[in-house]
Amino acid sequence: MRFVSTRGAAAPASLSAAIAAGLAPDGGLYVPEALPRVAPLPRDGHLATTAARMLAPFFEGDALAPDLDAICAEAFAAPAPRRALPVEGAHLLELFHGPTAAFKDFGARFLAACLVRLHRHADRPLTILVATSGDTGAAVGAAFHGLPGIRVAILYPDRRVSPRQAHQLGSFGDNVRALRVEGSFDDCQRLVKGALADPALQADVPLSSANSISLGRLLPQMAYFGHAALQAGEPMHTLVPTGNLGNAMACLWARAIGLPIGEVVFACNANETLPAFFAGQPYRARGAVHTVANAMDVGAPSNVERLFHLFGGEDAARANGRAYGVDDAQIRDTIRRHAASDGDVFCPHTATAIHVFERLRLDGDRRAWTIAATAHPAKFDSVVEPLIGRTVEVPPSLAAMLARPAVAEPLEADSQAFSTWLRRW
Ligand SMILES: *Cc1c(COP(=O)(O)O)cnc(C)c1O
Repeated sequence: MRFVSTRGAAAPASLSAAIAAGLAPDGGLYVPEALPRVAPLPRDGHLATTAARMLAPFFEGDALAPDLDAICAEAFAAPAPRRALPVEGAHLLELFHGPTAAFKDFGARFLAACLVRLHRHADRPLTILVATSGDTGAAVGAAFHGLPGIRVAILYPDRRVSPRQAHQLGSFGDNVRALRVEGSFDDCQRLVKGALADPALQADVPLSSANSISLGRLLPQMAYFGHAALQAGEPMHTLVPTGNLGNAMACLWARAIGLPIGEVVFACNANETLPAFFAGQPYRARGAVHTVANAMDVGAPSNVERLFHLFGGEDAARANGRAYGVDDAQIRDTIRRHAASDGDVFCPHTATAIHVFERLRLDGDRRAWTIAATAHPAKFDSVVEPLIGRTVEVPPSLAAMLARPAVAEPLEADSQAFSTWLRRW
């Protein structure tokens, strides 16, 4: 299969080339040239097996095709169980059983498994740059830690991530280094983009990125939705907490290739871009506002280009979707209420979708819904614990990371300082 740019001005690329490039050369995002239909799949397959069957048409004819089963086995080592909630007709799809306890582990591990194979015969190491405000950097660091031929530099804004997040980012060592930048998340992104666009630097230090627009992260995310939908036994109506539309796009693609997924509803925080668009306004990107569900603090979701491409334009996309905004007070109330009533503790992102589910019920929607749980609540202890009045038990893999010493090097928010650092590494 070949992949084309959402902006239509780049040559079609093979899967390997699209994964290696990240962004298309015309500034657009890679999408499949045509969405395939997958053959019917068994209900009771293992997650990794279902993933390989769903992804096979996308890998057809590519250099990575012979490795697809092994790549899926590495990426889908953790389970993604779908369990019933105490409320009639509600299920939780738990996507937080990977090493850093958030769904991004699946995509990051898949991308790592692809890149390590694409790069295995190179004579110089490939350096992956990640700018992060928290979750992405940890997932990418964990996924690439210890892999041969690849190094990772994680840039995060000093003092603007939670202490627990900062500790995770600095806990890897070896081929994964953390840089605490004197500046904002935007400064970190600017440094990464500047380095990737600097041919002289690239000649000395081969660079690549691992941000969420990479096909190598998005395609595998279809698998857990497909796997859960097969188990559900009837078209699975799905609520997805979203900011950048990554998970949400993956769910829509899984439906488009034939998996039994019903309606897909987007749950957003106080960032209004998507709720305003689906309520009828022309699409308009905004500045991001800070919320307690900070991994969804996005005002200009990059994947809208893929959404419009899938439906064939803005109006068609709007007619085919719904998005609801949930403010911080509602998120906090949802977390507090469930911990007190049924003992379920949700991360702030998952809580947005739980809140939207409750709103649908109040509006008279009696259908069964599956709610994507994007992170373990222990990742957001500083938000969750004061609300529920007790500590949240930390999953073992996260606890192991937090028990290791953490080191981060300081870096000025200056592109010259960053390229000097990269050349010295
Ligand atoms: C990244 C992230 C999100 C937002 O995901 P998108 O797919 O980019 O919309 C939601 N929840 C958590 C916990 C995240 O880390």
